[in-house]
Amino acid sequence: MAKPIVAVVGRPNVGKSTLFNKIAGKRIAIVEDEPGVTRDRIYTEVEWLNYKFTLIDTGGIEPESEEIIPAQMRRQAELAIETANVIVFMADGKQGLTASDREIADMLRKSKKPVILVLNKVDTKEQSPHYYDFYEIGLGDPIEVSSALGLGIGDLLDEIAKNFPDGAGEDYDEEVMKVAIIGKPNVGKSSIINKILGENRVIVSDIAGTTRDAIDTPFTDGEDQYVFIDTAGIRRKSKIKEYVERYSVIRSLAAVERADVCLLVIDAKEGITEQDKRIAGFSHENGKGLIIVINKWDLIEKETNTMNQFTKDIRQELSFCEYAPILFVSAVTGQRLMKILDKIKFVANQNAMRIPTGTLNEVIGEAVLLNQPPSDKGKRLKIFYGTQASVKPPTFVLFINDKELMHFSYQRYIENRIRENFGFEGTPIRFIHKEKA
Ligand code: GDP
Ligand code: GDP
Repeated sequence: MAKPIVAVVGRPNVGKSTLFNKIAGKRIAIVEDEPGVTRDRIYTEVEWLNYKFTLIDTGGIEPESEEIIPAQMRRQAELAIETANVIVFMADGKQGLTASDREIADMLRKSKKPVILVLNKVDTKEQSPHYYDFYEIGLGDPIEVSSALGLGIGDLLDEIAKNFPDGAGEDYDEEVMKVAIIGKPNVGKSSIINKILGENRVIVSDIAGTTRDAIDTPFTDGEDQYVFIDTAGIRRKSKIKEYVERYSVIRSLAAVERADVCLLVIDAKEGITEQDKRIAGFSHENGKGLIIVINKWDLIEKETNTMNQFTKDIRQELSFCEYAPILFVSAVTGQRLMKILDKIKFVANQNAMRIPTGTLNEVIGEAVLLNQPPSDKGKRLKIFYGTQASVKPPTFVLFINDKELMHFSYQRYIENRIRENFGFEGTPIRFIHKEKA
C-alpha cells in the first residue's frame, strides 16, 4: 500500500516544529541527497522499525506570524483530516488544556481518523499536573513527551505505527494505473481532467477490488483502467488565496504517495516555479513516474524554436528529473491532450519494468569497458555485478569492492548507459551499493 501520512496539529507554540525536527533529524536516509532536488521543511520521510511514513508539520505551512487566528488552526486541522492517515494532536503539558485545544479536539474526534494525543514539554520523569484534565476531550490516554529533550519519542512513534491502516484491500488492483495530477492552482488541472474524461471515456463507479475513495475518479479507456487520484481536491476551489498555494503542496504530497504516475501541470505563461520544483522533487523522491505537462500552449506565441527553448529551460530548472517526458498541450483547444493517456500508460510500464540479471550485466560490463571506473590512492572501483531488486521505482543493487570509490558522476554514467539500453523513460532509477570482498 501507499506510504501512510502522519500530520502533527495543535496550537501555536506547543512544540510541533520541535517534534518534527527531532524526528526528521533521526531519519535514516533512504535516498542519498541528490543535487538539485528541492526539499521542503514541512514534510519528511521517516523510517521507524519496519515502517516508513511521511510526516507533515501543518504548522509549517502557515507564514510566520505573531497572531495565529483560530480560522488558521481550523484549516490546519481540516487539512490534516483530509490528507493524513494518522493525526498527532499536540498540546502543552506545562500549560494544560485550553479552549483552543478543546475546539481542535472536537474537529478531530468527529473526523473518525486515528488521533494520538500528545502532551509536550513534559521534561522530567514526573507526570504533567494537567494529565488527567485531558481525558475530558475524549481522545484516549495522552502520551507524554519532551520534544526538546527527545524523551518519549520512541513510544510515540510506536503508537503512530500501531495506528497505520492495514495494507490489505486498501487500494486499487495492480492493473489500475493510479495517476496524480499535480501543480499549482489555476494551471489547468481540472480543465485537463474534464477534457480527458469528456472524450468518450467511461467513468466507472466501481473498479474490481477496490474500496474506492470518493475523492478519486476511476475510468476506463478501452481495455485500460485508470484512476485520477484526489480529483475532489483539485476541483474544490478555496477562497482564501494566500494559503491556497501552500495547501495545494500538501494535497499534492498526499496524492503523489498513492500514485504510480504523476502529471506535473505547468502554466506555459508562468514557467517553472519553486513550488513546481518542490512537487517534482517529491515525485522523484518517492520513485514515481513523472510526466511534465506544459498547459495553455495556445497562449504562447510561437516561433521556430519556442518548444526547444522551453524544453531547455525546463531541463535546466528540473535537472534531477531529466527522465520525465514533456508534453505541450492546451486544455482549451485540445491540442495533444489525448497523448496524455498514452504517455501515462507508457510511463507506468517503464516504472514497473524488470530487466533480467544476465542482460543487465552485459550492459554494465560493456559500460565498464568503455569508461574505466574511478580510482583513488591506487585502488580502483570494481563493479562485480548488478541485479534489479525491485520495481516502482526500478531499483538496482550493485555489488562493488568499495562504496567510497563509487562517485556520483560514475553512478550517473552507469545510469545513463542503463537508460540508453533499456529506456526507463519517465521513471527515476535507484541504486543500492553493496560491498563484497
Ligand atoms: P510550534 O509553534 O507548535 O511549532 O512550536 P515550536 O516547536 O516552535 O516550539 C514553541 C516553543 O516551545 C519553543 O520556544 C520551543 O523551544 C519550546 N519547546 C518545544 N518543545 C519543548 C519541550 O519539550 N520542552 C520545553 N520546555 N520547551 C519546548
Ligand atoms: P486548476 O486550478 O489547476 O484546476 O485550473 P483550472 O482547470 O480551473 O483552470 C484555471 C483557468 O485557466 C481557467 O480559467 C481555465 O479556463 C484556464 N485554462 C485551463 N487550461 C487552459 C488552456 O489550455 N489554455 C487557456 N488559454 N486557458 C486555460
